[in-house]
Amino acid sequence: MKKGIMGGTFDPIHLGHLVTAEEVRDYFHLDEVVFVPSARPPHKVGQVITNPEHRYLMVVLATITNPYFRVSRVELERVGPSYAVDTLRYFREFWGDDSEIFFITGADAFAQISSWNNPEELFRLCTFVAATRPGYKMVSMEEKYRQKVKMIEVSALAIASSEIRRRVKKGESIKYLVPEAVENYIKKNGLYVNE
Ligand code: ATP
Ligand code: MG
Repeated sequence: MKKGIMGGTFDPIHLGHLVTAEEVRDYFHLDEVVFVPSARPPHKVGQVITNPEHRYLMVVLATITNPYFRVSRVELERVGPSYAVDTLRYFREFWGDDSEIFFITGADAFAQISSWNNPEELFRLCTFVAATRPGYKMVSMEEKYRQKVKMIEVSALAIASSEIRRRVKKGESIKYLVPEAVENYIKKNGLYVNE
């Protein structure tokens, strides 16, 4: 079986995340992609992050119409910083050694990989898919990691969660940048208005 994992803060989830996950799923013929909202992203310490339950629910709303997409609460149930390596260990155990695990990231996130907790083990546990995204250039990479990384260029979507938050705060439209259900959820709960 071929499995995909898409980790992120998803504050909020947007079409850039969804298109990336779907294109990677299609290209590598993955059986499913599991979205894993991060409870306490180690690289966003000190930043204000929306309540994980809000972020989780928005991911559920955004992925519900895709039969290949699932959402996991594994990082929400865990205490301490949300390290990808703990999540990978969990899914490696859950799916067994025969499954091939593709960890999907944007190129910008992948460029920081050496700063992640335990990169050596990460590369043993999965294959990385680094999706190039407008405005980012792929960095050079250590030779030992190269074979465990697939690069894929996804349809150019210059969307970032930070831009969505900025727009909501300014009262600008976010229509067609996030799924309609997510747009409505943000409105209903007054998210990002006072940031
Ligand atoms: P922020 O602007 O707050 O950093 P973000 O849009 O980058 O948010 P994250 O939740 O930080 O969203 O990203 C989760 C994952 O999705 C990361 O691997 C990131 O590189 C990737 N990603 C984010 N936006 C895009 C996009 N438009 N296209 C492809 N990948 C993306
Ligand atoms: Mg980001």
